[in-house]
Amino acid sequence: MRELRGNSEDSYKMLYSYLHMLEQVNSGTTTKVELDEAGKFKYLFIALGACIEGFKVMRKVILVDATFLKNGYGGVLVFAKAQDPNRHHYPLAFGVLDDENNASWTWFFEMLKTVIPDSSEIVFMSDRNQSLITAVANVYPQSHHGHCIWHLAQNVRNHACNTIKAVVAWRFMELARYYTLHEFESAYASFKVRYPSAFKYLEENTKRETWARMYFPGCRYNLDTSNSVESMNSAFRDARRYALIPLLDTIIKKISDWFNEHRKDAVSGSIDTKLVPLVEIHLHNLWGKAEKTPVRELNSYDLEYEVTDTDDRKVYLVNLIAKTCSCKVYDYEKYPCLHGLAVYLYFLEVPAAHGRRREVNIEYHQLSSQYYWTDLWAMAYYRTIYSVPDKSKWNVPDHIKLLQIIPPKKLTRKGRKKVNRNPSVGERRKRTQNVRRPRTNFGFSWLLFGMRTNNPSEPNNPSEPNNPSEPN
Ligand SMILES: [Zn+2]
Repeated sequence: MRELRGNSEDSYKMLYSYLHMLEQVNSGTTTKVELDEAGKFKYLFIALGACIEGFKVMRKVILVDATFLKNGYGGVLVFAKAQDPNRHHYPLAFGVLDDENNASWTWFFEMLKTVIPDSSEIVFMSDRNQSLITAVANVYPQSHHGHCIWHLAQNVRNHACNTIKAVVAWRFMELARYYTLHEFESAYASFKVRYPSAFKYLEENTKRETWARMYFPGCRYNLDTSNSVESMNSAFRDARRYALIPLLDTIIKKISDWFNEHRKDAVSGSIDTKLVPLVEIHLHNLWGKAEKTPVRELNSYDLEYEVTDTDDRKVYLVNLIAKTCSCKVYDYEKYPCLHGLAVYLYFLEVPAAHGRRREVNIEYHQLSSQYYWTDLWAMAYYRTIYSVPDKSKWNVPDHIKLLQIIPPKKLTRKGRKKVNRNPSVGERRKRTQNVRRPRTNFGFSWLLFGMRTNNPSEPNNPSEPNNPSEPN
């Protein structure tokens, strides 16, 4: 395919025709090219119709990231993506920008807004690139913007002194995930005492509401890091060397493959399975314990209950109609915590007390947000994504064929080759030369891997992304 699409310059000459064909084979697709005053290529934006349509049934959390292109013309490849309810990549739009700056990010978000309108329900997650933050704030003023806690944890660890840095990063990630003010405040106070320099860095350089779950104003469900964007970039690592059209071919083919694969997953469950596997497994794992958890009915009409957690002996309040629990896990994740599930089992099994609202019939899957229902999951993938056919089959109107794009100026390489994206604010590049000898292993690092996250409801802890500054 790469060879059939011609050389680098041909990519720019054919771009308008290619995009015309892309829109022809994928209805509802939006594409836009921006040229500079001299007619040279500047920016490109593509949002496939199937992806934008599917996003309507998805959690409104958009992860954004950029990675450098290595095709000789410079520029960055940017992605805006969602995560499907079973933690799969779900690209919404992608583009090529000349660099990460105010003008380029603003243009990208202006284009994104034509397919995904601004709303207070929208949450953006990204690293702390200042241009990106400014652009989101200007173009999507109603949205909320959180920072990738994995990236931030790397900065925090770099500001820790006289301690094991990996532990500080881990403690910070733990802090970011607390559900209640009380839990957060007490953990943050002890973080301050144990890691004063890391605490100082956080206080002076960040706003809590951008990283701490419990201060974040929007609803970001269980997504707290842009690690999946990173791993998506790694999916296109080799393609970043391709000329523009082969690069686009590779991305579109990959998205098409993902759609096909996840469509199969979404429809392969049994007819009784109404929840995505991730949530189904999570609830299944809680089931045995939930059955043994004591529940007391408080209000049979409003379905309010008191639950005594057998682990911490604390009492939690659950409202089955509002789908809330005072542990807040149910409220944030939008699928039941242990207490919520215990209440539901009580609700099913205990005969109605006099006055119970009998017309309320809550089915098991209705305990969770619709975003975790398999019906909606399948709807996100119902459309096929088609590749642009071979050039011999193109049918492009003459006025489009005549549109010309001058390629951007070829880079002349000076100094060290730039392989990856710019580090975000406060992030340091990983050492590539004069690498220190490995430290003596005190047997602590493996211990970390054995530690449980403090997030009891996290069904699967996402794996850590590759360090973005890691050379490839
Ligand atoms: Zn709870």
